[in-house]
Amino acid sequence: MNFLIDAGHTEGRNKGVCFYEGDNNYLFSIELKKELESYGVEVDLTRNKLSDNPTLNQRMNMSDGYDLYLSIHSNASSNDKVRGTEIYDSVTKKNNKLAEKLCEEISIFFNHNNRGVKYKKRSDGNDFWSALRGNAKSSMLLELGFHTNKEDCNMFAKNHTELARLFASVIAKHYNLKKEGVKMRVLRYRSKGDDVKTLQRNLLKAGYALTVDGSFGPNTRRILMTYQRDNGLKVDGICGPNTWASFDKVKSTLEQYWYDKQTKVIKLKRKGVKMVVEVGKQPTESLHSLYNRLSIKPDLMINGGMFGMSNGVSLSYTKSRGKLITKGVYSKWAICQYPDFIKLQGMYWAEKIGDDEKITDAMGAQPSLIIGGKRSIDNTGLDYSFIKYRHPRIALGLTDDYIWVVVVHGRNWLKGYKGATIDELATIGEKLNLTDFINLDGGGSIKVLDGNGKDIEDSPGNRPVDTMICFYKEG
Ligand SMILES: [Zn+2]
Repeated sequence: MNFLIDAGHTEGRNKGVCFYEGDNNYLFSIELKKELESYGVEVDLTRNKLSDNPTLNQRMNMSDGYDLYLSIHSNASSNDKVRGTEIYDSVTKKNNKLAEKLCEEISIFFNHNNRGVKYKKRSDGNDFWSALRGNAKSSMLLELGFHTNKEDCNMFAKNHTELARLFASVIAKHYNLKKEGVKMRVLRYRSKGDDVKTLQRNLLKAGYALTVDGSFGPNTRRILMTYQRDNGLKVDGICGPNTWASFDKVKSTLEQYWYDKQTKVIKLKRKGVKMVVEVGKQPTESLHSLYNRLSIKPDLMINGGMFGMSNGVSLSYTKSRGKLITKGVYSKWAICQYPDFIKLQGMYWAEKIGDDEKITDAMGAQPSLIIGGKRSIDNTGLDYSFIKYRHPRIALGLTDDYIWVVVVHGRNWLKGYKGATIDELATIGEKLNLTDFINLDGGGSIKVLDGNGKDIEDSPGNRPVDTMICFYKEG
């Protein structure tokens, strides 16, 4: 089975109450792709980047040969009270049962009107919507709620994963797809095909940066060998039964994807997660070194706030395992671990927070980017070039369900890594609908390790840092 998902419009198009439709469609399409792939479906996108903007004709032509083409949209009305989901099924290649079921389940999920499955044709009898005039076996255009309505807009923005899961399960049932993995052949240099894509996706999921193109070239071989070395497998660059089996064992509590060609997004489900701030061996220590000496390994580990390069003293408010390390000089906000929850806490007076014994661990950072769902950049005390020039950046975000790490790579024009200004970084957080978002120590200090202690961003070097933030998933 192969599906094509078309995220309608493009970046910054069709302003809704809480998102731009073109942005939201794209972000949802990534989640939907991932969920459908877990059923062994090959999924392609008409937009592989937020800013991609194929014409309507190009989108239609791309659908040739796919089993299913889904064009994702949200609806608009001049009446901001109007809510509901409707699906346009192709008039020439009806797939009414699937459309009805999707429409019904989605409407229940949103708790809004089921506006039903619709058929709209031109005078020549062909589909009215160009999206549905291509040569996929089935095509649908989905209007998922109204972005002009507050409830619909928020519901959609905050539930991409859950909605994608629901979609995938309805579609899987219709096509009788099962979650079990497919039997895989042995792949080697110059192999081509869908199973090569699966291998590449597995490597990507395991944290290695590569292109998923279905072609086993020198780059795929090199990365496979690195993976094999990292995971104690025979390093032969051939993907046989042992390597295939190893992908199931990789500790993958993290979700990650490339937001654009220089920005990696890493997500960890917030439920049951505890944060511990660790101070490196004085004056500084690499994340790998700390990871190795921790007896319980974190699921996600990132570098902390800024520190003095000469003496390794933290410039940010830091509390580690119940002990106040320093009040810092730059932090107006800190990520704090309370007994039962993690929160971004304002700390206009560090003394006040320092006295809060309920906080076990805290990492101050600067500047704030988004606070309580609102863009809120406080540049006080930071120099112009730090704010306004493009640098590699790392920032920590929160939503109700997830802890987010956003890494913007920079200083490598060959790879297309240009870095971001503080403003650009905040905009990424807004597009991801983050509730809170704060900048950590970027530049050469950026480092993110997964539960296997492996680098999952794409930054060179291993600069020792002063503080590190560890997230542990319980159970
Ligand atoms: Zn639309």
